[in-house]
Amino acid sequence: IIILGIESSCDDTSAAIIRNGVLLSNIIASQKVHEAYGGVVPELASRAHQQNIVPVVDQAIKQAGISRDEISAVAYTRGPGLLGSLLVGSSFAKGFSLAAGVPMIEINHLQGHVLAHFIQEEGVEFREPRFPHLNLLVSGGNSQIIIVRDHLEMEVIGQTIDDAAGEAFDKCAKVMGMPYPGGPLIDKLAKEGNPNAFEFSKPRIKDLDYSFSGLKTSFLYFLRDQIKENENFIEENQADLCASLQKTIIDILMDKLVKAAKQTGIKEITVGGGVSANSGLQNALKAEAEKRKWNLFIPKFAFTMDNAAMIAITGYYKFKKGQFAAQDAVPFARMSIND
Ligand code: ATP
Ligand code: FE
Repeated sequence: IIILGIESSCDDTSAAIIRNGVLLSNIIASQKVHEAYGGVVPELASRAHQQNIVPVVDQAIKQAGISRDEISAVAYTRGPGLLGSLLVGSSFAKGFSLAAGVPMIEINHLQGHVLAHFIQEEGVEFREPRFPHLNLLVSGGNSQIIIVRDHLEMEVIGQTIDDAAGEAFDKCAKVMGMPYPGGPLIDKLAKEGNPNAFEFSKPRIKDLDYSFSGLKTSFLYFLRDQIKENENFIEENQADLCASLQKTIIDILMDKLVKAAKQTGIKEITVGGGVSANSGLQNALKAEAEKRKWNLFIPKFAFTMDNAAMIAITGYYKFKKGQFAAQDAVPFARMSIND
């Protein structure tokens, strides 16, 4: 079974080839145009996807060393994401499916993030999470805790009621005058700072849910007060601010994850989404895993961000179940993990 995966939900155009669960290629074209605007501009994103999609797919097929007619099916991201961006990937998939005479498989982007742990690579030792496992999905649009019962059977047991963790990173970075996306930059600067230099309040949210909008607001007010006293406050304290902010976000994330693991009795833990690349979060997860005897899975960097390999692997499992899409399938901007 050879699956061509297509990902175009936000600002990365990506194509990947997976043969029987093993990754042969994973090409990602990131869009630089958005940096100057402090966030992703939907119109520019879909235009860039249009420019990138054909060369990216060509390169993925070439690098995989296969020929086009060996492909068994094309899997593409149906949602959630930016509608204009999703349309480019889904239109391409429909065209490819018709031209090549192969079935089309629609993929939930969030399931893709969760299943990134099942991507095998040649020459890389493969550890596979068992079922059920708990997944902490932390990305630009989502922060949730999921019980993964099988490849395609997931249950959300906690989620953010407002902003996502990635948004908290990005919005606070913006307040400090940093470029978009701020998450990776905060991670880098935090390494030089003192995580206990400043204290920001943590939300009191029930059960396993998250909230990050209050943190952003209190961070903004805190800076505003400090700048009144010292107009160079941000520049002079940048590393400490990043370290303290990052620690607060990590504490919030870990607190509910530990609670979820205790409540469910599940010790098989996976993490995914862009924020799972955060070095502080990875360290906190490793420390907790050591302490609580968790069997922890952290994706390699290329699989934390948006990529088509995770779409192709999800397509592989749907292919085996015969779950194909019709030509009139439409993309959805908003989708939960079970849609
Ligand atoms: P979703 O998957 O929910 O639709 P998305 O695809 O936009 O959202 P991802 O691409 O998975 O989200 O993740 C992007 C987010 O990850 C951004 O908010 C970015 O700041 C954050 N991020 C990336 N690297 C790091 C890092 N090292 N530390 C903290 N945050 C990071
Ligand atoms: Fe994503």
